[in-house]
Amino acid sequence: MTSESKPAHFLQNIIREDLAEGRVSQVVTRFPPEPNGYLHIGHAKSICLNFGLAGEFGGRCNLRFDDTNPAKEEEEYVAAIQRDVSWLGFEWADGAKYTSDYFDQLYEWALYLIREGKAYVCHLNPEQAREYRGTLTEPGRNSPYRERSVEENLALFEQMKNGEMQEGECSLRAKIDMAAPNINLRDPVIYRIKKMAHHQTGDKWCVYPSYDFAHGQSDAIEGISHSICTLEFEDHKPLYDWFIDNLPVPTRPRQYEFARLNLNYTVVSKRKLKQLVDEKHVDGWDDPRMPTLSGLRRRGVTPAAIRSFCEMIGVTRSDSVVDVGMLEYCIRDDLDKNAPRAMCVMDPLKVTLTNYPEGQKEMLSAPGHPVREDLPARELPFTRTLYIEKEDFREEANKKYKRLVLGKKVRLRNAYVIQADEVIKDEAGEIVELLCSVDLDTRGKDPADGVKPKGVIHWVSADHNVDCEVRLYDRLFNDPAPDAGGKNFLDYVNPQNLKVLSGCKAEIGLARAEPEQGYQFERNGYFCRDSKYGTADKPVFNRTIGLRDSWAKEQGN
Ligand code: ATP
Ligand code: MG
Repeated sequence: MTSESKPAHFLQNIIREDLAEGRVSQVVTRFPPEPNGYLHIGHAKSICLNFGLAGEFGGRCNLRFDDTNPAKEEEEYVAAIQRDVSWLGFEWADGAKYTSDYFDQLYEWALYLIREGKAYVCHLNPEQAREYRGTLTEPGRNSPYRERSVEENLALFEQMKNGEMQEGECSLRAKIDMAAPNINLRDPVIYRIKKMAHHQTGDKWCVYPSYDFAHGQSDAIEGISHSICTLEFEDHKPLYDWFIDNLPVPTRPRQYEFARLNLNYTVVSKRKLKQLVDEKHVDGWDDPRMPTLSGLRRRGVTPAAIRSFCEMIGVTRSDSVVDVGMLEYCIRDDLDKNAPRAMCVMDPLKVTLTNYPEGQKEMLSAPGHPVREDLPARELPFTRTLYIEKEDFREEANKKYKRLVLGKKVRLRNAYVIQADEVIKDEAGEIVELLCSVDLDTRGKDPADGVKPKGVIHWVSADHNVDCEVRLYDRLFNDPAPDAGGKNFLDYVNPQNLKVLSGCKAEIGLARAEPEQGYQFERNGYFCRDSKYGTADKPVFNRTIGLRDSWAKEQGN
């Protein structure tokens, strides 16, 4: 993840200059998630950026949980976020940090502002406060509580802290400028009463700092040199600067904004993802259809694929929507290069090789990968009874059909050429079995009569295979912009986003497949064993992605 192959982006240029001109001696960045949901592909962009810059410039990157809101945060999310950042391949400096680690200091700084006459306890209720705030075109009005004395403010804030006031009864506000054109500067709330236990600090506090009051000061405490956030925080920068200018903070972080990642056919908002989970449109945050890092992992996407996607999309200051096809390209490209090959018959049709001895079994060796010699070869038992895909046989077909046709030949992948001699049907006329003959002189060479079969199909032994379930996932949403404008994203959940196939037959070695290890099921796509469902002798395989971009074709693009 260096800039060698790509021109530097604006943040790399800024950092290089800061180092060259001595404004910064060590690069310190941070990734600051709020533990109110699982990380998604959008967060991956921020993680790769923050950890990537620290790595590139010999600095460090903190993982800091921005945990100022006890109402929405949970320990489960803290653990999941740490797992996902590590999985993506990054290490944070020291231990994980929490904004709540700084609650004592932030409280002291709130007192400092009060003593300086720059903060006051305001008894406007939320509705009145909104009214006093003004609008984008009209200035706000001063709160009637704005001129309270320092002593009175100190006493009232003490009461707030001691739980002697009701939630919503009053708040602590910074005294800045009710006529400021930037609404964020119109005496923002810096402390609220919340009589709620916190997952880190327990019952210690019944006042909590606002996100805006906590964020920049936490960066200052940690000595963050480059405080990188998404564009919607640009308007908050004057407020963050005001706090830094008016408090005795140890360092002065500088904020830089970049455009967040938006992906078509995808929702990247924790709130909406949580709704999908809570309303059971999916089977948890790590459902393989989810754009969460844990969902992508369970689906078989590798961290390397996500990192190369983040590298490919780059970092800019202009908002845009990235085609999910780019992510799919990165996933496919990575698996093509690294996933061992295997065979799995999804819709089995029994084949009996009438000229192959009953009870005989020979082991055929097949390459683990077409070019990667470091991937071990596979052993495939070959027997008199086999399975092939139903769709790989037709009684009659034109020349375009390069599979098995009655009276014709086909090559079994990594094995022999067979010929279809006879079809056995049930009473309903369904084909239930094929009687074929095998030419045992065709392993790695053409038949002696010189007639080379046109097609190659996959197969497994009917006696030695892994009975499994295969889950074919498609895009979760069938609309390119499911949550654009006033749309309700739930109306665009793709009803065909999961197809479950049971009774599939995979080659025997897949009994040992580990979750997260991707395989190319030859001629089919990329798959990995599910970590949640299935048993030791009946695994479930998730389709990570197809071999080609079938979606674009079907949509006629
Ligand atoms: P959401 O809208 O999903 O709730 P958030 O910004 O509130 O996202 P945080 O937990 O605060 O979620 O995010 C942590 C960091 O990840 C922030 O610095 C934020 O800028 C970044 N981030 C979140 N979503 C994206 C995205 N789609 N693209 C890039 N960075 C993102
Ligand atoms: Mg946020």
